[in-house]
Amino acid sequence: MAERDKAWEDISWISVDPQPAGLKAVYLMEMRSESEQEAVLDLFDELAVHIQVRKLCEGRLVGFVVQAEEAQRDLLDELEDLLRRECSLIVAQRSFDEVIYRIISELAAATGSLTVEVPSCAVCGALEPFPSVIVNLADEHGGVLRSRCFCAGCAASASSRSHKDFLMSLMAADEPDLRSFADAHLLKRRVGEQSVRFRIRHR
Ligand SMILES: [Zn+2]
Repeated sequence: MAERDKAWEDISWISVDPQPAGLKAVYLMEMRSESEQEAVLDLFDELAVHIQVRKLCEGRLVGFVVQAEEAQRDLLDELEDLLRRECSLIVAQRSFDEVIYRIISELAAATGSLTVEVPSCAVCGALEPFPSVIVNLADEHGGVLRSRCFCAGCAASASSRSHKDFLMSLMAADEPDLRSFADAHLLKRRVGEQSVRFRIRHR
């Protein structure tokens, strides 16, 4: 049995989790001391309770991308004011794209800081710090064996007649040779408002 088939046989659950879209912002700061670095990391830790936060780099340069809901626009304004006042803010941008990520990676490398990898869309490869859809393939006990992220564009262009069709076209675009997927019997279980879990019966 091929490795891929064996791995496929281990998959018992597939979950499809659409993620909310929102306002993104990128911040890059130069740390002037260790205590400043600690304070900044603490601040973003606390922020993660209210908005989505992903670290982009850490070291002499600390960078984050965040995503907030439209209603939290004020929070982003306050955050930027605070960072301007308290930090040596190099970049503050109200969007995320590959160019800013490349610039941050290069600056991080030049200052001996560590760049943190950002997830990318399994179909088009676009960097997606906060993917539109996350598909997890899990074993019998719910342990995630494989995880796939999809950008908004690819998720939108996937067939959306039913959750199963949607999932099938996403996975087909990602792994065209995962043929057994089409043969599997999917039992749909809804969890939460948008998330769907499929129980897989292997034939
Ligand atoms: Zn994509």
